[in-house]
Amino acid sequence: MAPKYHPTPLSGGDRKALAKELGKARAMASMLATQSAEMRAKGEAMIQQADRLLCESWNERMWSDGEPIHPSPTIDQAVNGGFPWLEIRCGRCKTPSDVDLAAMKHPPTTFVHDLASRLRCRKCAKAGRRPSATLLQLTWQPRHPRTEP
Ligand SMILES: [Zn+2]
Repeated sequence: MAPKYHPTPLSGGDRKALAKELGKARAMASMLATQSAEMRAKGEAMIQQADRLLCESWNERMWSDGEPIHPSPTIDQAVNGGFPWLEIRCGRCKTPSDVDLAAMKHPPTTFVHDLASRLRCRKCAKAGRRPSATLLQLTWQPRHPRTEP
């Protein structure tokens, strides 16, 4: 795009004043953009902190009482908060396993507690059973060796 055209004022004083105003406006534009970027970075860092606290709060509740499992963080809150893994335990055979939340096909706005009825134990699935999973903890890395499918 061509730069915006400002008609050149006839008087030298006005030309100087225009140049000064243009310089000020350009400096202001870049200063405001910098401030906006800084503020956004701060905001994102705070959201990340809030997400982490939400995950930690949910973990404490799961550890202390195991319920209610809702409200819970959403998948993207968990991932953003540094807890991209969900530790579950099969309701039937009690085998623990880890779910990679970032790799889930569900929309990132899905609540973690909504996954409970959708996660299946591989072992039991092979035996033709579909028991629901008990949700244990959100973790920053998997805790159990991957069981071969
Ligand atoms: Zn099982």
